[in-house]
Amino acid sequence: MSIAATVLDRIQRVTQAPKVSLHEPTFGGNELKYVTECIQTGWVSSVGEYVNRFERELAAYTGAAHAVVVSNGTSGLQVILELAGVRRDDEVLVPALSFVATANAVRHCGAWPHFVDSDPRTLGMDVDKLDAYLRDVTEQREDGCYNRRTNRRIAAVVPMHTFGHPVDMPALMAVAERHRLEVVEDAAESLGSWIGDRHTGTFGRCAMLSFNGNKIVTTGGGGAIITNDAALAKRAKHLTTTAKQPHAWAFFHDEVAYNFRMPNLNAAMGCAQLERIGQFIEAKRLLASRYAEAFRDVPEVSLFLERPGTTVNYWLQTLLLAPEVAPQRDEILTVANAAGQMTRPVWELLYTLPMYGTCERMDTPVADDLARRIVNLPSSPQLIPGVI
Ligand SMILES: *Cc1c(COP(=O)(O)O)cnc(C)c1O
Repeated sequence: MSIAATVLDRIQRVTQAPKVSLHEPTFGGNELKYVTECIQTGWVSSVGEYVNRFERELAAYTGAAHAVVVSNGTSGLQVILELAGVRRDDEVLVPALSFVATANAVRHCGAWPHFVDSDPRTLGMDVDKLDAYLRDVTEQREDGCYNRRTNRRIAAVVPMHTFGHPVDMPALMAVAERHRLEVVEDAAESLGSWIGDRHTGTFGRCAMLSFNGNKIVTTGGGGAIITNDAALAKRAKHLTTTAKQPHAWAFFHDEVAYNFRMPNLNAAMGCAQLERIGQFIEAKRLLASRYAEAFRDVPEVSLFLERPGTTVNYWLQTLLLAPEVAPQRDEILTVANAAGQMTRPVWELLYTLPMYGTCERMDTPVADDLARRIVNLPSSPQLIPGVI
């Protein structure tokens, strides 16, 4: 059997269905009830009790002191970069291997992404390599860390927890402190992923979560900012809600701000989804062990599994092809998708996109290699019917 046929066979053994998508949301809980209540009471838009409740429950779940819900993850990331002090023409360190929104949010602040290589053990940024690189290319000046090549300030670093697998945050925090960088986490994919007993997104100054339709918890579209910094949370709420000063009837806005609110309708859905996150994660973790088992006798591929000391949400199941079968990746994708088993390659590396081609970057041999070897497998929690 060809490797493509073998991979398809093993996927089918696990999914046991003729047509399977990559990740589909599931709404078997209180979603309809809460959303209906919004419509019946008229509280569908920019204020409402579900907005407050979703923020409280997200803070409680992640252990962050504060949560501010927003219109989507990208807008949330833009705002927290700004609040972390990123200014026009600064540089911000981001992984070369990420969704385009990570870099876009940096550009929306007028700053420049500066790309970092991946760690093959986490799929996130390589912290040791980053440290060595910064020692090499930067110098400390009065107001922070400067790229000697471009003469621009490097203001922040944005670790992204790929498919739910955490970056080595304790190590990254030490490196960021050494080089005087703010840490803003892109935790879009890692709601329900932990390092020890600490939730991803609670290590840096602040973090963004996404509730887009394909994420583990969805509000249709939406996002959140989480932080332990009370002043930052207050600023984030103000800046994402048109900077309106609270008043019974007057419209006074005290700065140029954004309309990045999450509508109550979406927050209602988020509350219902969050009630079931435990089940979603249980199903996804079981799915990971079933894939790992199914692929055990296929030495050319392996399932990417959680590292000791971490608990991973397994948002997207990740198959890693051995280097010798990497050239067959497209054939594997073609065969599986044609047979109704939706599989996807990872994103194109960000520095290969036309708008980011001239940005600063370190050598990225590991990201280049991973980009050719990652195949995401069907990951919906409904694939484990006993749990969902
Ligand atoms: C989904 C995602 C985002 C963007 O979130 P939206 O809510 O779609 O704006 C950002 N970064 C990563 C890594 C993501 O996966």
